[in-house]
Amino acid sequence: MGLIQTLPTTVVHLIAAGEVIDSLGAVVRELIENSIDAQANRIAISIWTDTLTVQVSDNGQGMTLEDLEQAATPHTTSKIHTETDLHQITSLGFRGEALHSLAQLANLQICSRKPGDTIGWQITYDSNGQVEGEPRTVAIAPGTIVTAKQIFSNRPSRLQALPVISQQLRKIQLQIQQTAIAHPQITWQVNLDDRSWFTLWSGETMQDVLPQMLSSISVNDLVSRQFSELHPSYVIPANPSELTYTSPLASSLSQNTVQINVTLGLPDRVSRRRADWVKVAINGRFVQFPEMEQVIFAKFARTLPRHRYPICVTHLQVPPHHVDWNRQPAKNEVYLHHLNYYQEQLSKAIAQLLEVPEPRMLTSSAAATQMLRTAESNVPYTSSLLNISPKALAQVHNTYILVEHATGLWLVEQHVAHERVLFEQLESQWQIVPLEQPLILKHLSPQSIERLEAIGIEIDAFGEDLWAVRSLPAVLVNCEDLEAAVIELSYQDDPQLTRATIACRAAIRNGTALDLGAMQDLLNQWQKTHNPHTCPHGRPICLSLEETHLARFFRRNWIVNQK
Ligand code: ADP
Ligand code: MG
Repeated sequence: MGLIQTLPTTVVHLIAAGEVIDSLGAVVRELIENSIDAQANRIAISIWTDTLTVQVSDNGQGMTLEDLEQAATPHTTSKIHTETDLHQITSLGFRGEALHSLAQLANLQICSRKPGDTIGWQITYDSNGQVEGEPRTVAIAPGTIVTAKQIFSNRPSRLQALPVISQQLRKIQLQIQQTAIAHPQITWQVNLDDRSWFTLWSGETMQDVLPQMLSSISVNDLVSRQFSELHPSYVIPANPSELTYTSPLASSLSQNTVQINVTLGLPDRVSRRRADWVKVAINGRFVQFPEMEQVIFAKFARTLPRHRYPICVTHLQVPPHHVDWNRQPAKNEVYLHHLNYYQEQLSKAIAQLLEVPEPRMLTSSAAATQMLRTAESNVPYTSSLLNISPKALAQVHNTYILVEHATGLWLVEQHVAHERVLFEQLESQWQIVPLEQPLILKHLSPQSIERLEAIGIEIDAFGEDLWAVRSLPAVLVNCEDLEAAVIELSYQDDPQLTRATIACRAAIRNGTALDLGAMQDLLNQWQKTHNPHTCPHGRPICLSLEETHLARFFRRNWIVNQK
């Protein structure tokens, strides 16, 4: 008896039924997931569009002849054996259905060789997933090659319903890219119609892989970090059945720790027209997860201009028994237990990444990071600015504050920095104070009056088409053009925009001379804000010249010994 077993009927009945393979993309998805479960770190994919053929080769664990003979029969899998296993899935596959479906829909052939064996086996399957003809020995490298030819040729209606090939290929490319981000240890070589289509190189973490897909974005625009937490409600899960199978995920998933990997584009540097790079992966697979995406959008809401979306790619690695993959056949949706807890963790993780303008190291390769570190060995290097005290040096053009800090220089625009400070003050305390002299305004519409009253401003009729404003938000009281500010406020429906308007009106204007004390005060307050990168309208606040960049620019690293 090989590793692969047929699932008990009771378990089969628990598994979300449905067509596993409904597109070319699904063929690619199922085959590459099998390669990942087999612990491959090199995967080659070839697609031939004229014959609708897909071939996936890997250097994974391979299959014995016995396993090969079983692999395409219904509900056979080496990844789970019992119902208990179904609730703690550590592999991508578990239904034992993909190869069987593929045998039904295409001409399926698999060659495989176990790493310890001297020879491999080749099997062709009939449309029931049974071995057709005699197994043949083949000389192949350890690993597995699955070839599915003429996909859907016996399903004319399915074939007709497929979208145009370019659209299918775009989906496949996205599928491979996402899988690569979730499994950075793998190198991918993808061919299309006998020509190389694209390659993705492996790395240590997703931040090594991601820039290969975001070629228009510099790695310096991205920051990433991995957060680990002990999950508070640790329950010892039931014993899984004795599985000979160990998945590569199993080693990175633990029963009680949660790892959250986040890579995001700094909002003052990059944003996108569509939300195409807001992504959430759970335990090795990207999923549609509106509840988590909302957390991401909310975190960026006040740092991005309207109608712009962040780049934010997240991978949550959670105890396997917290995830129910059995929601639908394509596994692109999940049930996550302790959803609120995970939303909070993700929110905290993003907040921390956005908090301080981090000294930006090249994260793309460990070697580059090492080189820059060495170049700076005489400069104290801190990974966070919390313990750095920025020092105002001078004002430039009555507009910029020149700032020195431990890892470089900043040029801070005084107006937007102050706007950010006031905006956050208004968020934490909304204070209305009476005016000594009422402000008299003309021509206010009933809606305008309603809006002003709604935010707590006291206003009453003063004469024909005249109104007296008797109280205002405290920060506005000394504003230069009070009348224009109140009129502008009377147009705002959204409380957030109202606060942004007040902050903008009340903030120090550019062109105003400031002494060193005032500049230092402003800096200290700005440093403490939650989102120091941008003003509430999304404009950047600070231009940063990091020592690391300066060292590179002045080529100081050339004289340093390199390993
Ligand atoms: P599942 O992945 O849900 O187990 P599949 O039908 O996709 O079901 O695969 C059936 C079995 O065939 C797997 O459980 C695995 O043991 C084996 N298998 C499939 N593809 C590979 C591969 N590339 N390398 C090694 N074993 C494989
Ligand atoms: Mg599978």
